[in-house]
Amino acid sequence: MLNRAAVLADVAARVRQASPDAPLGVLVLRAQRVRDIELTLGYAAGEALGHAMQDALEAAVRPGDRVIRIGAHDFLVLLPALRGRSHAALGAAKFVRALQQPLDFDGQRAQPIVVAGIAMAPEDGEDPELLCRRADRACDDAMHGVERYAFWTAPPIPLDTLHDDLRAAIADNRLSVHLQPVAVLPDRVIHGYEALSRWTHPRLGRIPPDVFIGVAERGGTIGELTRWNVNVALRHLATLRASGKPVRISINLSAVALQVPGFVDQVLDLLRLWNVPGDALVFEITESALMRDVERCSHLLAQLRAGGVRIAIDDFGTGYSSLAYLRQLPVDAIKIDRSFIRDMVGDLRARRIVGTMIELAHDLDLVVVAEGIEDEATLALLQDAGCDAVQGYLIGRPALADDVVQRAQAR
Ligand code: C2E
Ligand code: CA
Ligand code: CA
Repeated sequence: MLNRAAVLADVAARVRQASPDAPLGVLVLRAQRVRDIELTLGYAAGEALGHAMQDALEAAVRPGDRVIRIGAHDFLVLLPALRGRSHAALGAAKFVRALQQPLDFDGQRAQPIVVAGIAMAPEDGEDPELLCRRADRACDDAMHGVERYAFWTAPPIPLDTLHDDLRAAIADNRLSVHLQPVAVLPDRVIHGYEALSRWTHPRLGRIPPDVFIGVAERGGTIGELTRWNVNVALRHLATLRASGKPVRISINLSAVALQVPGFVDQVLDLLRLWNVPGDALVFEITESALMRDVERCSHLLAQLRAGGVRIAIDDFGTGYSSLAYLRQLPVDAIKIDRSFIRDMVGDLRARRIVGTMIELAHDLDLVVVAEGIEDEATLALLQDAGCDAVQGYLIGRPALADDVVQRAQAR
């Protein structure tokens, strides 16, 4: 008899090892019209067919994949460390093909008709049972599609429901903050962290921050969300500094949040409350958001800066501002967008653009941070170009703030 708890534990263990770059595929494979086979060839044949299907599946998977029989002719297949959705689709198509061959068993032969449903972790959720249900639901969709497999797709979310849920999550302290290290060059000492917000919706799973920030902006809770954010970030900052780490924390600031009446005073109050110096706090505002309403934003940023707070332009290079124009703005640093950094190794033009950005920024006394560094080759190029600081998976991935702080304290 199938042990449900054991299956879910098996899924959970693999979910824990999954990441957006190496997702886990959860597949449900189901044979259709088995009843026809049973009624023609007999129940024993149906039973034997189930075993033959399992053997065919086991032969088709990669080492490290896991096949679990969850019904007479239903299977759960776990595919860890995929390269992405298309990799999962390739797997699903292969398994369907393998099971739709004429299978021989007990001197009989049958050709089942098979569909596959796919859910991906962490993208579609991290709860094992939810993932299985989603893959199962996708199976239903596959029956009606042209392909014999389908991915789970989220039902459209009514925006106001999502907003109500977000408001409640903020009130109940159910959002979390991840911290990603920023290191100075050339010695790679970690001198700060960027705070990145995370929200796992009870039914819908993980909602990407750019999505729920947009929801908060349109629904009018961005002020509350940002206040919550600043407070949590400063709490961690105070802990880190109290244990002798002279680090900074960067917080992403939406232009809408900046313009909420009273925001600047709130920030200055919180700095006093947590007893941290203003210059240990950095606000990152995207180039495009700043340029949309440059006068009002500059005025408010200047007030923050008068309190010592530092300002960085995020996603630099994706908007249309000229660096020379930045001189007139109350800005301390630029963060060169990942799209330029990503291409540096293979693309001379990207390398030249980044080099020019760094030179010009330095002429204007701006600090330059590069984001999205994933390999040593890119880091070496940035170091040669004179970049001041770097952030990216190579230096460290974002991780739960409590864990990051604990680890930093232990160092
Ligand atoms: P961002 O400010 O550009 O943040 C960097 C994003 O790149 C983060 O995604 C981070 O996880 C990811 N990243 C960092 N290093 C690497 C790398 O080496 N390779 C790759 N491929 N990605 C890397 P995340 O956390 O999903 O955040 C997405 C965006 O959501 C952020 O972009 C930021 O604009 C926004 N955001 C996140 N938290 C908040 C918040 O609390 N408030 C506001 N207003 N915006 C936020
Ligand atoms: Ca940022
Ligand atoms: Ca960015």
